[in-house]
Amino acid sequence: MPAFLYEVDPFDRTLDVVFAADAEAAGRKVGCDADAVRHVEKFDQYEPQGEVYPVQWQEYGYRVACWHCEHMVDADICYECDGNYPHEDDPEKAAMTDDDRGVCDDGVRVYCDRVCLERYEAEVERKKRGKAAKEQSTRQTGKE
Ligand SMILES: [Zn+2]
Ligand SMILES: [Zn+2]
Repeated sequence: MPAFLYEVDPFDRTLDVVFAADAEAAGRKVGCDADAVRHVEKFDQYEPQGEVYPVQWQEYGYRVACWHCEHMVDADICYECDGNYPHEDDPEKAAMTDDDRGVCDDGVRVYCDRVCLERYEAEVERKKRGKAAKEQSTRQTGKE
C-alpha cells in the first residue's frame, strides 16, 4: 500500500505517514480530508514495518524528535543540548565528552546524544524490572 504523508498537528507541523489504498482511505484513517494527505513514494517501501522509523525520516532530511526528551534534532546536532547550552541543571550533560555529544541513534530511534540514548535504555530496563517484580508478586499471591 502506498504511504501518505499528513500533518498530525498543524500548529507545530508534526508529520506522520499512514499506509492506505488511496488518498480517500488515508484521509479516513487519520481523520482529515483526502486533499490534506500526500502520497510520498519514497516511504512506500516501509509499509511492512507499519510505520516510518525516526532514523528513516532523518535519512530523508526531516527533523525528528529525540525519543527520550522530544527535542527536535537536526541530522547531526540538537541545538538545545549541544553548542553553547551550559546544562546548568543537568550535570550529566554538562560532563559529556566529545564522544557522547552529537545526535545518535539505535538503528530505529534518534536521540540528542549518548546521554539521552542511555537514559532511554535505562528507563526501558527499569520498566522491565518493574514488570518482572509485579509478575513475581502475582505468583506469590497465587500460591496462597
Ligand atoms: Zn536535546
Ligand atoms: Zn534528547
